[in-house]
Amino acid sequence: MTEIRDRLAKLNPRQQEAVRAIDGPCLVLAGAGSGKTSVITTKIAYLVQECGMKARNIAAVTFTNKAAREMKERVGKMLKGREGHGLIVSTFHTLGLTIIRSELKTLGYKPGFSLFDTDDAKVLIKELMHKEADTDAEQINAVQSQISTWKNDLILPGAALSYAEDEDAQYAAVIYEAYNRHLKAYNAVDFDDLILLPVVVFRDHPEALARWQRRIHYMLVDEYQDTNISQYLLVKMLMQDRQTFTVVGDDDQSIYAWRGARPENLVTLGEDFPRLNLIKLEQNYRSTGIILRAANTLIANNPHVYEKTLWSQMDDGDPIRIIMNRNEEAEAERVAGEILTRRIKESAEWRDFAVLYRGNFQARLLELKLQHYQIPYKLSGGTSFFGRNEIKDAMAYLRLLINPADDNAFLRIVNVPRREVGPGTLEKLANYATGREVSLYAACSEIGLREQLSERALDRLGRFTHTLDRVRREMDAGQSISAIRELFREVDYEGWLYQNASAPKIAERRMANVWILIDQLEKSISGNPQEVEEVEGGEDMVGDTETGDVAAAISRLVLRDILEQQAEEDDSDRVQLLTLHASKGLEFPHVYVMGLEEDLLPHRNSIEMETVEEERRLAYVGITRARRTLVLTLARQRKTYGEMMDCVPSRFLDELPPEDLEWEGRADKPQDQEKKVARGRDAIAGLRSLLG
Ligand code: ATP
Ligand code: MG
Repeated sequence: MTEIRDRLAKLNPRQQEAVRAIDGPCLVLAGAGSGKTSVITTKIAYLVQECGMKARNIAAVTFTNKAAREMKERVGKMLKGREGHGLIVSTFHTLGLTIIRSELKTLGYKPGFSLFDTDDAKVLIKELMHKEADTDAEQINAVQSQISTWKNDLILPGAALSYAEDEDAQYAAVIYEAYNRHLKAYNAVDFDDLILLPVVVFRDHPEALARWQRRIHYMLVDEYQDTNISQYLLVKMLMQDRQTFTVVGDDDQSIYAWRGARPENLVTLGEDFPRLNLIKLEQNYRSTGIILRAANTLIANNPHVYEKTLWSQMDDGDPIRIIMNRNEEAEAERVAGEILTRRIKESAEWRDFAVLYRGNFQARLLELKLQHYQIPYKLSGGTSFFGRNEIKDAMAYLRLLINPADDNAFLRIVNVPRREVGPGTLEKLANYATGREVSLYAACSEIGLREQLSERALDRLGRFTHTLDRVRREMDAGQSISAIRELFREVDYEGWLYQNASAPKIAERRMANVWILIDQLEKSISGNPQEVEEVEGGEDMVGDTETGDVAAAISRLVLRDILEQQAEEDDSDRVQLLTLHASKGLEFPHVYVMGLEEDLLPHRNSIEMETVEEERRLAYVGITRARRTLVLTLARQRKTYGEMMDCVPSRFLDELPPEDLEWEGRADKPQDQEKKVARGRDAIAGLRSLLG
């Protein structure tokens, strides 16, 4: 009890007001580093420890897994023992997934539904579009992002069709309808559905909404400026009766408009909840005076709905360094070298450093340099072993061997390697399977299917399932691993990899990964079978496969991968490599932002589409991650589309207060020259006095 009071006492009066405002809707609108997330975490503890609310009736949502994990950790430190039992701290998408799971029947889905990631979805859209004309990657991407926009805006296929104004939109709407129909047939949902479906089920089924309203009494939302329409509606529906929620946000950090985020949700909130209590925070606790000044000056170039002033009690600190390099390689080299020396100078840890950039491709050279200097690093958004395509394929084979009802696995590999099973065949198969309420795999060997499909199509499917049936029998006879190895040779997975890789070396490495997986599996079968049972909640993650040796071994592998990744996130001492987008909400003592060049930051598309303001917010997010030192780097030349191009320094550099900057590698700045001369003068004067 007293602990929460102590904690509350450490907050400033405005923050305390935000924590204590529990009876009605509350919006905290404030700039970076002003303690918005701190308000949320303290408020959760306050609700439980001071107001006697049960943790299971509280839900806190945020945007990235990383942010959710961090929030969980912060709250975990405050709640003792079982106090935190049942508390929901998750991303919007995870909350959506939980809601969908609990409302499966209402939604008309079968248990064990699959989640399609962006790539899975793209494959399906591509298949559907190929039925029409010849389509290129750009068209597919355009349709995919249009479908995503509709889902984020809560526009269902019927409405999309009737709103469609031109031919392109009409076409996309037709694909949208087919796409949704196929997802349903595959018993699958996509990423955007994780928000859309809960809203739809709540809208159409008041009893489902009532169930969840009984469960969630208080809601807290971080990074509210980046909610899309579906997400806003989800919050609104859940909270419309009680009106007890706290959302925090910063319109200057809205960086997901391209993914459907609606910063105007900040305004809508005031209209939908007239009792809304608006609280502004103005003290920044994160950054030095100079860093904060730079951030404020930069963002002042954007128009503002809400005026905010941010001040800091901290010292000015070091100037912001801007390092101009010969080319991108020199830039990467410089950043790696800087981190190496600064770590010693500041006696810092690796984890105190973060390198931020606009696009993931910028990390490649940096990775090489970091490896060269043996600097441990963590690349966020990088692919884990199990995220690799070849491993996903191999896992799908294994899953289907063990669980023939796994339709998603079936769909992943029925044409990998290519077996010429077309989308038309699959659609008929899926319809037949749905009608008969059997899995796709089981449907393949049903007599009734013969009336639906051509001889050729049946034959192709039959060969696929017969191969797997045979391997399954061999596995039952105790020859598991050798049978699995033989399977990959028989289907010539390696040949398929070679056909699809841009270079033979890449195919070779991918095949090696598959063998590594199978070796691991072999070790795991002979290894300790206790591993799974000892982990709390393990059954959930393992899924509902059979309990055969191989099944258990596969589960152990997957589970270990999940846990290892988590362990790595939690306590490893590494330099963090992140995109600017992924850095939202985080803070680091020392921050490097790379590539401050026109066409990169601001991004070329944004210049063309005149959305530079969003890029400025992105730069603002980057700058405000830094607590003590900030270094901005750029290259004079950079390889773009295979060609060396001259780069122009980012306009954002000109928008920073020049007196707080220290340029390197650019001699043409007058104040730079002056500083050098002055430094030279000082040095000589110092020498003189030394010499007496
Ligand atoms: P962002 O907009 O970047 O998400 P934020 O507003 O969520 O930032 P927090 O991450 O909550 O800000 O806080 C920034 C830093 O300031 C954290 O290190 C936090 O511990 C610290 N902090 C917040 N409030 C106070 C306070 N009242 N006294 C001292 N430190 C504080
Ligand atoms: Mg925050």
